Amino acid sequence: MPAKYIFVTGGVVSSLGKGLAAASIGCLLESRGIKVNLMKFDPYLNVDPGTMSPFQHGEVFVTDDGAETDLDLGHYERFTHSKLSRDNNWTTGRIYEQIIAKERRGDYLGKTVQVIPHVTNEIKSAMKKVAQEVDIAIVEIGGTVGDIESLPFMEAIRQMRQELGREHTLFVHVTLVPFIAAAQELKTKPTQHSVKELLSIGIQPDILLCRTDRFLAKEMKSKIALFCNVPEEAVITAKDVASVYEVPLVFANENVDTLVLKHLHMEAKDRDLAKWEDIVHRVYNPKDTVTIGIVGKYVEYEDSYKSLKEALVHGALAHNLKLQLNWIEAEGLETGDKSYEAQLEGYDGILVPGGFGKRGIEGMLTAIRYAREKKVPYFGICLGMQTACIEFARNVVGLEEANSSEFDPATPHRVIYKLRELRGVEELGGTMRLGAWTCKIEPNTLAHKIYGVLEISERHRHRYEFNREYEEPLVAAGLRISGSTPDGTYVEMVELPDHPHFIGCQFHPEFKSKPLEPHPLFRTFVGAAYEYGQKRKAEKETVEVEMFHRPERVAGR
Ligand code: GLN
Repeated sequence: MPAKYIFVTGGVVSSLGKGLAAASIGCLLESRGIKVNLMKFDPYLNVDPGTMSPFQHGEVFVTDDGAETDLDLGHYERFTHSKLSRDNNWTTGRIYEQIIAKERRGDYLGKTVQVIPHVTNEIKSAMKKVAQEVDIAIVEIGGTVGDIESLPFMEAIRQMRQELGREHTLFVHVTLVPFIAAAQELKTKPTQHSVKELLSIGIQPDILLCRTDRFLAKEMKSKIALFCNVPEEAVITAKDVASVYEVPLVFANENVDTLVLKHLHMEAKDRDLAKWEDIVHRVYNPKDTVTIGIVGKYVEYEDSYKSLKEALVHGALAHNLKLQLNWIEAEGLETGDKSYEAQLEGYDGILVPGGFGKRGIEGMLTAIRYAREKKVPYFGICLGMQTACIEFARNVVGLEEANSSEFDPATPHRVIYKLRELRGVEELGGTMRLGAWTCKIEPNTLAHKIYGVLEISERHRHRYEFNREYEEPLVAAGLRISGSTPDGTYVEMVELPDHPHFIGCQFHPEFKSKPLEPHPLFRTFVGAAYEYGQKRKAEKETVEVEMFHRPERVAGR
């Protein structure tokens, strides 16, 4: 049976959580035994978000096949079992790139190449490609209705309805119903306008997901239904929630899945959301808190570390803990004196995440040294592994000027360097080592204990790597290389055996962590951090008790 389609559009303002809505619908449908795939169209002209600033775009999510994609794909993978690739994220830039290549090849046989039908056909064939082998393809259109640049995508989904019919296509529109404090009222006008805008391009939404901060009363729903020409049951309260993992449950409460299946004339088994209910129960009933400090460069903009934050949440939930995350500006640790200690004190674990460029590196090295010497659990990801190696080379091996050639091309000790540069690979665009690579793990290491297997596959996004010329002195001084590519070329994991939990990886495990399957590296890091925090607390309490009971001894010192 050919797949059916759910098209998710957004109105009124951006950031209403269309991606989460699409992912949550996918999650709900999976819970009823439906096989889904998800994809996103981004209307901007960049070919992919790989070259965009994290401030502009947020995190670049990397898929197994090495595509640099929109962060919404991260939601799709965390909420569903869909296997995503470069086919699941298209920008206007990439669509046009295809068309122009075809035009240059002469594929259009002399015809005038136009937005309709050539661009829309290209968009439709991208949709059809991800719809193979699934029951339903959920297609999210980025941007907001009314944007000039999203028009070709809107037109393409309008054509899909024409082509396939109502029973095979469903339009979900995510909109805003704001509460206006001055009037003490929820307002439906923005939603009415947004639906009007959709209607003007020939799309009548079937379901309205209304983002609000409170439940929509029956009268409110019937008003929206009347003005927007949808059945009342299709006006859904998409209420703000404390945890994104609650959204599928909120939608289930509003019977979104039943509505979808009814519209698409599909039969499905009963809903089973027990695992998600358990996750949400943990979110609201933690036994304790674990405090992690992330030392990075883009810390003021959390979206740039979306998957990382979620992976830490998954790790904490696995131990029934609430995650207290503090973002520490790396540059702020470059104090030149010991005042950084006050900033780093009190964390149960310290993490240096991925990053590019020189800014804040010295601060990261300071934080790593602190974690290493004070035996605070440390987890270094990509740049965080590279800086851990630099710190070790400088402060343990004594190679004072050790560095990465990324930050100091003239350094006499390129502990981190660009192997491919030496092999004559051009630098510009797309030279990063991207996507899934196999890593062999050394037996009897922390990495082995964490993964429980000797071969893993993880996703990468880096240009520089560990320089094997420094393996001997670093290993002799106590660094353990616990993971490498099968051919031994790339170092993938390092650790310090004389530290309770100090581990670094060249890859990005955060991309593969899910709430229902917390990644072992995050689960164990958070576990070690909590244990360390508890031990430290107990020690502090012992000291306080001693001081209280034996004041003369303390005073006598
Ligand atoms: N800047 C480093 C490199 O390119 C690290 C990259 C990263 O952390 N993703 O190798």
